[in-house]
Amino acid sequence: MKIAILSRRPSLYSTARLKQAAELAGHEAVVVDYLRCYMNIASHRPQVIHQGEPLEVDAVIPRIGASKTFYGAAVVRQFEMMGVFPLNESQAISRSRDKLRCLQLLSRRGIGLPVTGFAHSTKDVEGIIEAVGGAPLVVKLLEGTQGIGVVLCETNKAAESVIEAFRGLDANILVQEFIKEAGGADLRCFVVGDKVVAAMMRQGAPGEFRSNLHRGGTAKAVKITPEERSTAVRSAKAMGLKVCGVDLLRSNHGPVVMEVNSSPGLEGIEEATGVDVAGAIIAYIEANAGPNKTRDRIK
Ligand code: ADP
Ligand code: GLU
Repeated sequence: MKIAILSRRPSLYSTARLKQAAELAGHEAVVVDYLRCYMNIASHRPQVIHQGEPLEVDAVIPRIGASKTFYGAAVVRQFEMMGVFPLNESQAISRSRDKLRCLQLLSRRGIGLPVTGFAHSTKDVEGIIEAVGGAPLVVKLLEGTQGIGVVLCETNKAAESVIEAFRGLDANILVQEFIKEAGGADLRCFVVGDKVVAAMMRQGAPGEFRSNLHRGGTAKAVKITPEERSTAVRSAKAMGLKVCGVDLLRSNHGPVVMEVNSSPGLEGIEEATGVDVAGAIIAYIEANAGPNKTRDRIK
């Protein structure tokens, strides 16, 4: 097969590993900067053009950066119009980028979630704090990544000030019950198809409730429970993602999902677990790729 990895930088660990794994399995792999692709949307003959040449491949592995979702998803969609197999479909990538939409879709499936509130007007601050059970609670920016914009508020008063400050910046926010019993740790479950192929526990630095590796957290392999496993797989399915990282917290009401990432990094998880995650992704493509298989419709 000829596989295109849609990534801005060939030197990124995940990109390099996917290319290596594809080649090891006997495929031709090219890294394509999706921002340098342009499209021909003429009737009947959709094309993606890169460096002056139409790109003809059997499968694409999207590694779209969060800030480039609009254009990146359009490039993936163009490949779908051509009948090319995408590892994750454009629509699933777009929907996964909206944390609120994620939580809404997961809640419809009855998947465990932290009690979460969302509002636009700060006139309703007290009501929303009450609705999620009062302090301590976590306020987060809808557009945040790497733990930035995630604030723990110990009292209702503190929560009110933080919400008002964020709203003053015209930011969209979520207000969430604080899962104290998680002890500053979360689980990253790496889903490929209908399996969790690797799982790690990330533990925040001492005194830090956020477990992000960017915030000084550490990672180790972890054995997850059958309930955690099924929560991760059901979350992937609810989002229409074939490959994703599902972040869970161990709460005293069972596993709760924090977020579902459609371009999960490979470095942390391969290092912590020793699992050949890139190889598992290529094997999934081998087993599932075929022309005109795009059919994302989650209901
Ligand atoms: P980001 O997308 O920026 O990583 P998250 O929502 O995943 O933001 O939050 C970052 C980290 O903060 C999580 O991995 C988790 O360790 C911690 N955290 C987030 N929300 C909660 C919560 N409601 N209760 C306890 N810990 C939380
Ligand atoms: N079922 C609709 C779809 O697949 C809506 C789900 C969603 O919000 O992503 O487009």
